[in-house]
Amino acid sequence: MLAYPAALLNLDLIILDPLPNAPSKQVLNHSEHLSGSFTDAQAIAELASKVDILTVEIEHINTDALEAARSSSGGRSVDVQPAPSTLRTIQDKFLQKQWLEAKSIPVAPFQSVDGTESAILAAGKQLGYPFMLKTRKLAYDGRGNFVVRSQEDAQEALKALGCGNGEKETLYAEKWVPFTKEVAVMVVRGKNGEVRSYPPVETIHRNSICHLVFAPLRATDQGVLQRAKEMAEKAVATFEGAGVFGVEMFLTSDGSLSINEIAPRPHNSGHYTIEACECSQYENHLRAILGLPLGSTKLKVPSAVMVNLLGPPAVDEVANNALHIPGATVHLYGKAESRPGRKMGHVTIVGSSDAEVRARVRPLLLQLGHPQD
Ligand code: ATP
Ligand code: MG
Ligand code: MG
Repeated sequence: MLAYPAALLNLDLIILDPLPNAPSKQVLNHSEHLSGSFTDAQAIAELASKVDILTVEIEHINTDALEAARSSSGGRSVDVQPAPSTLRTIQDKFLQKQWLEAKSIPVAPFQSVDGTESAILAAGKQLGYPFMLKTRKLAYDGRGNFVVRSQEDAQEALKALGCGNGEKETLYAEKWVPFTKEVAVMVVRGKNGEVRSYPPVETIHRNSICHLVFAPLRATDQGVLQRAKEMAEKAVATFEGAGVFGVEMFLTSDGSLSINEIAPRPHNSGHYTIEACECSQYENHLRAILGLPLGSTKLKVPSAVMVNLLGPPAVDEVANNALHIPGATVHLYGKAESRPGRKMGHVTIVGSSDAEVRARVRPLLLQLGHPQD
């Protein structure tokens, strides 16, 4: 999705991805694209040797290699955005939480947990049940989360998260947040430190995977919108470097907000910006890291909804059905293999009101078996 605005701005994009036929490489043909792991220092060094500015679309990356690319003493050095130190803090969700807490940004109570049953029971005593046990690193789409409902779950939790041998610095626990809504705000930060945010949106997760995004967030208390925007901008301003950041938050029944996590890159909850905003999160990411003027983050339609198409079955059928819906844009990613829960594409539907987009998305929700959403 970064490749489309890059092409329109005549930007030469070289992509490193483990897959030779990665979706991004299908979109933008280039003889110099590389195949390699995001943890492979050599592959990152090779990419750095070919580019002027290096950016990431995933935080699970070798930050030492990025640091080395930036401070390469012998040859030329490369601008890395956002800063490798930012990626290092964010990629470890426990360090990220500590960082936010130290900056007085609200987060749910949390604590470090060793990979033992007794450590989990101690966390349960401290935080109460249920609580969320999370892996510190390499988490995405809820892989790395386990809801510990009672003491009896401790062993299963360790097994599910691949721990149990007393591992240190692998897990942490979070107090359960009885949220009424999940809110996300995309924030773009320019090279000069300018910060602009997109309208707060409502995200609906199923099994810890983002399922729907409604833009803008419907709130009876309009103050929530302002506070979400301020909290997201404040949080992003604490990190070094340019680019787009996705800020995930919890809204509770008393109207208070806390931050769940931050992604240092374009984010699923900002896909809707492609069709619904004056400048998409992707174009703004490119503008930010290049030091170009930031684009407007305003909605250009009254309302939008995004539905993720998760693998299998039914992705193609849902996509075909979406072609009948006015205001719908289908995005299929060209991933070779469909697996349960894998994001294979998404559909964004725009409309003249919240009621209209909700009516337009209904056939897809029925087809996906979630009519109540
Ligand atoms: P992503 O794909 O967004 O990176 P992730 O794997 O990093 O996801 P989280 O964002 O930590 O996982 O959690 C996924 C979802 O699980 C959240 O969006 C929320 O629905 C639920 N969740 C996470 N933490 C808590 C909590 N402390 N209390 C209640 N629900 C939670
Ligand atoms: Mg995450
Ligand atoms: Mg998340």
